[in-house]
Amino acid sequence: MQQYIDGQRTEATSGQSQDLTDPSTGEVIGTVDLASTADVDAAVAAAARAFPQWSRAPHVERAEALTKAAAILDGMAEELAQAESRQGGKPIRLAREFDVPGSIDNVSFFAGAARNLEGRATAEYDGEHTSSIRREPIGVVGSISPWNYPLQMAAWKVLPAIAAGNTIVLKPSELTPLTSVMFAEAFTRAGVPDGVVNIVTGRGDEAGAHLLRHPDVGMVSFTGSTRVGRTVLEAASGTAKRVHLELGGKAPFVVFDDADLEAAIHGAVAGSLINTGQDCTAATRAIVHRSVHDDFVAGVAELFEKVVLGPVADEATDLGSLISFEHRERVAGMVERARGYARIVTGGAAPTDGDLAKGAYYRPTLVAGAPTDSEIVRDEVFGPVLAVVPFDSDDEAIALANDTVYGLAASAWTRDVFRAQRASREIAAGCVWINDHIPIISEMPHGGYKQSGFGKDMSAYSFDDYTQVKHVMSDITGVARKEWHRTIFR
Ligand code: NAD
Repeated sequence: MQQYIDGQRTEATSGQSQDLTDPSTGEVIGTVDLASTADVDAAVAAAARAFPQWSRAPHVERAEALTKAAAILDGMAEELAQAESRQGGKPIRLAREFDVPGSIDNVSFFAGAARNLEGRATAEYDGEHTSSIRREPIGVVGSISPWNYPLQMAAWKVLPAIAAGNTIVLKPSELTPLTSVMFAEAFTRAGVPDGVVNIVTGRGDEAGAHLLRHPDVGMVSFTGSTRVGRTVLEAASGTAKRVHLELGGKAPFVVFDDADLEAAIHGAVAGSLINTGQDCTAATRAIVHRSVHDDFVAGVAELFEKVVLGPVADEATDLGSLISFEHRERVAGMVERARGYARIVTGGAAPTDGDLAKGAYYRPTLVAGAPTDSEIVRDEVFGPVLAVVPFDSDDEAIALANDTVYGLAASAWTRDVFRAQRASREIAAGCVWINDHIPIISEMPHGGYKQSGFGKDMSAYSFDDYTQVKHVMSDITGVARKEWHRTIFR
């Protein structure tokens, strides 16, 4: 797989590449070029060349190109789903029903939003002047994305940037570059000028680090771990770039004693196992009222044991593999350490039977009785692991939900409207679901509080990040302030 610069696939000048592995089988499915710093320079130069024309293109022209891109991507849906599934060990059903349609919907949404970049009204406040606000693109956006939802992350980064008139250089994760390049090509086919969307397929510490420091990049938009997010902030400070960070999470899933318990149990299974738990908003800490705690644990354990692990190409498969064998080691290590201080109710092992043993699979794992300050309750596992802790009062539930450095998403399960309102107000997270967990829509913002980052993906709110606001003030009388100018400096 080559990178995509200035409207075409190009080989990396480094001459280096790395194998791409399907983690569900351990098979090598291709190679990816590793971009050198010279490749990043070439991509940024292409984006900078494309900026003047694209940033001044009439909004309707941008909107039409994005609408066309959505139709082209729709025609590529099955091809995209297959690639997304294989590079990430993701069940084909998830890729078909979630990743691909979600990404295309994002393109359609921003095609409409491109026509409505709100510039707030003019004001004739003193009878002499009028003001207007222009929302202007920033320039070349440098983006870095993770491996868990490669196609959706590409959409979340590319769309608000280019709909607002920026150009972009995106560096996807070196583990999952396939669909980002296919995605970029669709925009060229739709008539988006060369250089507006560029993909460099390199490693984080080389290509990524160079992109972050590049003097011609005006903004950095990063999705990934909080650990790397901190280095992004430092790197961007050198040239005072605008920074947008979507980082890790440790979402609480709060079940009050009046909740519909059956709904909460099913919600916890879906919310914790989606994408094999490799989801920044996944439910990872179930905080459950003591009176229903044991029933909740029993109900979730029963469903966890029924989850079908299988080949990702099989429609019957519920749960795919983890992204890599190294990552499985990390997940398994956290669970093994938890055995020392908590009870592993179910799971806690990799399957050893048949073909599953060849992939980086890990069984759905439920942990109970862990202290609230333990690693499994505090740290992001990013695997199919749910820890359950009990609470006795509403105050305690809210305090436990907020007892984390993260603040990306949370959910509260209750039939009491006042409890629901309290939870939505008092839980410090960028999204609080009530009686649900996980759904996202293009119209609504996604982004973190606290160490989950800042800035919003999706929705018109993302334009606050990807545009700069210019105040234009004009004399409307031809004489305004002339007297004052003469008297202030006589
Ligand atoms: P990661 O931070 O290891 O890598 C993310 C990207 O950063 C990759 O493209 C990687 O190559 C690059 N990178 C690594 N080191 C770099 C460096 N020194 N300089 C520049 N770039 C560098 O994250 P990951 O393991 O790919 O993804 C999992 C993480 O992403 C989890 O923490 C998850 O919560 C987070 N995530 C957050 C959101 C969100 O919306 N908040 C969405 C998806 C994933």
